[in-house]
Amino acid sequence: MRRRLAAGNWKMNGTAASLSEVEKLLEAHLSPNVEILLCPPATLIAQLAAKKGQHPLMVGGQDCHAAASGAHTGDISAEQLKDAGATYVIVGHSERRTNHGETDEQVAAKARAAHAAGLTAVICIGETLAEREAGQTLDVVGRQLDASVPDAATGQTTVIAYEPVWAIGTGLTPTNEQIGEVHDFMRSRLSARFGADAAFFRLLYGGSVKASNAVEIFAIPDVDGALVGGASLKAADFSPIVQALEQAAESELP
Ligand code: PEP
Repeated sequence: MRRRLAAGNWKMNGTAASLSEVEKLLEAHLSPNVEILLCPPATLIAQLAAKKGQHPLMVGGQDCHAAASGAHTGDISAEQLKDAGATYVIVGHSERRTNHGETDEQVAAKARAAHAAGLTAVICIGETLAEREAGQTLDVVGRQLDASVPDAATGQTTVIAYEPVWAIGTGLTPTNEQIGEVHDFMRSRLSARFGADAAFFRLLYGGSVKASNAVEIFAIPDVDGALVGGASLKAADFSPIVQALEQAAESELP
């Protein structure tokens, strides 16, 4: 029902030379059961889209402005990402929320802009360490999910990434039980709002996913894939993660 998704976020890393890493990925992965998404810096989107050619790998942006165009120096619109060859865009990444003070309402507006441009929005949510230690994880995740996901979202236009802020780039990961608890909670919360359509939303886990923990994370119910930062930069690191997801998908086939 949900095609598994391995998404890589290169953040502010990479130049044209880095695209050689993509060639290795393109050669190694063609499974129809897993979708691969790479979100390079905006400067590389058009080059990546050209390089991938007919390969089913998807290309995405890392952020977009809520407006379609206008006087917003340095920003980029969803329309422009689409024009450059993107079909996805990440919105609400914790680094945007923290470094740029983005609110849930702004994230929802960006997701609506992505949808209007025909892009699939990967909406990121997750608690800080202080919030987890205060026992507020599900409150925070529930609030962000409600406010960051637009009413018109569907499983076709929207992917949710649960990314505990304290797990991003730190090497720390929640226990499998903690990940499972949040993913189960998100599915129920989406069901309460979107009814049967909730079953179509893909729920990714993100935060220090690497080859050594991917197999066990992908075995957790309701984890439909991963959003990967550091380990998506090199094919040698990302490829085993994609492979683990391919194996998880195959093990579910009738
Ligand atoms: C991210 O930035 O979305 C992320 C999950 O980073 P990392 O995999 O490096 O923790």
